[in-house]
Parts: sequence; C-alpha cells; structure tokens
Amino acid sequence: MRPSQGSKRSNKAKTRRSELARKGVPFVFYGLVLFGLYLSSLYSYLLFHNLAEIFVIVVGCSIFILALNSRQRLDNSYVLFLGIAYLFVSGLDLLHTLAYKGMGVFPGYDANLPTQLWIAARYCQSISLLISPLFLHRKLNIYPVFAVYTVVTIAVIAAIFANAFPVCFVEGVGLTPFKKISEYIIAFMFIAAIAFLLYKRTSFDRHVLQWLVASLVLTVASELAFTLYSSVYGFGNLVGHFLKIIAFYLIYIAIVEMGLEKPQRLLFKNLKQNEKALQAALKKVQRLAITDPLTGLYNQRHFSTVAEEELRRACRYGRSLSAIMLDIDHFKRVNDTYGHTVGDHLLQEVAQSFRQELRRVDVVGRYGGDEFVVLLPENDLAAARQVAERLQKSIARRQIATPKGSAKITASLGVAALDCEETTVEQLLSRTDQALYAAKKAGRNRVRSG
Ligand code: GH3
Ligand code: MG
Repeated sequence: MRPSQGSKRSNKAKTRRSELARKGVPFVFYGLVLFGLYLSSLYSYLLFHNLAEIFVIVVGCSIFILALNSRQRLDNSYVLFLGIAYLFVSGLDLLHTLAYKGMGVFPGYDANLPTQLWIAARYCQSISLLISPLFLHRKLNIYPVFAVYTVVTIAVIAAIFANAFPVCFVEGVGLTPFKKISEYIIAFMFIAAIAFLLYKRTSFDRHVLQWLVASLVLTVASELAFTLYSSVYGFGNLVGHFLKIIAFYLIYIAIVEMGLEKPQRLLFKNLKQNEKALQAALKKVQRLAITDPLTGLYNQRHFSTVAEEELRRACRYGRSLSAIMLDIDHFKRVNDTYGHTVGDHLLQEVAQSFRQELRRVDVVGRYGGDEFVVLLPENDLAAARQVAERLQKSIARRQIATPKGSAKITASLGVAALDCEETTVEQLLSRTDQALYAAKKAGRNRVRSG
C-alpha cells in the first residue's frame, strides 16, 4: 500500500525532529562547555584563557586530522588546505597560550610576546582562509604546502623571539598602533574571505556555506573585540575568546560535513544506485535467458523446464493437462513475398493472439521457426480443442501490414491430452505434433486432436 500524504508529512516531521535531536546534542554540550569556561574566568582569568585556548587548539588539530583522513574521498583540496592551515594556526596559538602572562614558560618576556604570537596566528588564519577557495577545484600536493607553512611559521616565530617582529603590546600603555592596525587588516581579510566564499557559493552545500560564513562573521567580531582591550585580562579579551571558540567550532562543523558526512552520503548513494543497476541488469539477463527475443514468449529450453514441472504436478494430483502445437501455414511464402521483416512482424502478431486468448496459467513457448507450443493445465482434450479453435480464428482474423497492403494468414493446430502412462513431455508433444501433421495434411487452417 502507498503511504498517505498525511503519514508522509508526519514521517518528514519525524526525520526533521530526529535530525535536530542528533545535531542538537553537540550544541547543548557545547553550550555547557562555554558556560563552564565563563565560570572558570570568574575564578581565574589565566585558567579561563588556558582552557579556552586549549579547546580551540584541540578543535584546530581535529580539523587537520579530519581533513588529512578524508583527502582520498574528496575531489578537491579545499578541506585539506584548511586542515593544514589550522594545524599551524593551532601551533602558533599553543605558543601564544604558553607565553601568556602568568604562565612563566618563557621567563624574561612580558605580555608583548603572547600578543605578537597571537597576531602571527591571526595573520596565518586570515590569509589561509582568504586563499583557501582557490583550492576548491584543484588537487593539492600536501608536501610543498606543508613545507611552505613550516618555513614561514618558523621564520615568524624566530623573528618574534629575536625581537625582529613589531611590538604589539606595551605594559602599562596597552596595544600598539601596529597591533590595532593589524587587527583591522586581519578583520578586513576575513571580510574579503566571506566575499570570496559567497562568490564561490555554487561550489558549496548551502549548510556548509552557512557554517563557514557564520564562522567568519564571528571571527571578524572577535578581531574587533581584540582591538578594544587595554589589558590582556580585560573584558574585550574575554568576549574575543568566546567568539573565537564558537568560530572555530563552526569551521569544524563545516569540515565534518564536507570531509566526512557528504562523502559518506555520496558513497551510500552510489552504492545504492549500483545495486539498483545491478539488480535491473540481473533481471534483464534472467529474462533474456528464458525468453525468445522476437516474440517475448518462453524459449524452447525454458518451456521444456516448465512443462516437466507441469507434467509431474498433473500426474501426481491426477489433474488434466493438454498441449497445443501451432504452425503457421505457408510461412515461407510470406517471407518470400514480403520479406523477412514482415515475416518477423507476423510472428509477433501470432504471439499477440496467444496473449489475448490464453489464461495466465497457460505456458506458451516458441518452439522454433514458425512453430509454437502451449500447455494448458487443468484442461482436458475437449477444452483444449476449444482453445485451439479460438486461436485458429484469432490468427485468421489478423490483418498483417505489408508494403503491398494488408495480408491474411492462417495456422494449423494439433491438440493432445496428457496420458500419465507417458512419462515425458517429449512423448506428449510428439502426439501433439502428429495431430498438427494431420491438420496440415487435411488442408491446413484447422485443428486436429490426437
Ligand atoms: P507449412 O504450411 O507446411 O508450415 O509451410 P511453411 O512455409 O510454413 O513451412 P515451414 O513451417 O517448414 O517453414 C518455416 C519457415 O519459417 C522457414 C524459415 O524461413 C522461416 N523462419 C524461421 N524462423 C524465422 C524467423 O525468425 N523470422 C522469419 N521471418 N522467418 C523465419
Ligand atoms: Mg509453417
């Protein structure tokens, strides 16, 4: 039974609800993490900063691992490029965390060091996001990309530790113009990245594009928050970190969708399509193996198989079973007069008569050339004779279209009933054939029973 419209709609609603539930669980978890982070900031800002940055670093590394493992399934390198970029961004963010005021990992450095590392990480992130759509339609060799990121990152870190990088923060004064201008430049690059993404929107799933754009918008907001603070422990810094955490997570969701869920869906879809095509091909092969291609009736081999079963069943349960053999009269003449194509068409017309005059339980086969056989389960000789006469009339009524106008044909038929003393189909058909021969001899276009 086909499902009703109402039940279709409620099924859709159920799927949407379960989808929401599936996607909602991580969001609830994520909300709790953010709340926990906020509580930690009330206790100690350094603790909050460490936890927030570690969370972002873990998400960044996860993006890399995910991208690396899904690269074989993807036909473009956008995801892989972003994955590599986020690994290096996470590396710089890790150094920034370790260098943060109060950590004591790099003695002798003040709050300028983490701020410089921060700005380096943001430059790396914004430039990477800006150019990443370039890899939407090309394959990337992972090693040169890795090499470029490694060399540039090490050079920047070396410059920072060698005091060759512009000063970003002065204790007691606050952020330097370089840092503030840099945050604006970075924010501008993120905005440009949004524009580039929107320009390339046709290359993305609608949802993925939404996640990516939302992430970039939050990143811009986070950058602007970071231009405002005058202490690395200030409110602007706190808001900036929250926005950064959410932005990273949104990129992560987009990468999961692109690198994991979409290829998986595609894989299952392809598998299903292949399975369907295979089943259809198998059905076709099975049908071809048992039918005569011209008439669509059973071929001789399959007819014999089915006939054996019918004969066994009829004898076992004492049921009647009859056979009809039909041969077109002067068929050679038709071929000779009108050509083989008209002959073929005529054979198809005869098959049509079988379809019209017989029951579903009757078994019809093309026995060869212009000869056909029919098995009639539950029919005795008298009933079979009636069927044969119907067939004879049906064929005689047919008008066959030929290039020389319409033509008429006739057929001769022999009928015989099963005698269970006989044990093979051949014996039954041999008697039917003898009856057919008698019909031919008696002048054709008639039925004879044996
Ligand atoms: P009869 O009344 O004695 O049956 O005369 P007939 O001309 O029909 O003789 P017969 O049954 O022996 O001839 C069968 C002819 O059927 C011979 C062959 O050329 C033709 N034939 C066999 N297979 C095909 C086919 O697939 N297509 C066409 N067009 N002709 C076929
Ligand atoms: Mg014939």
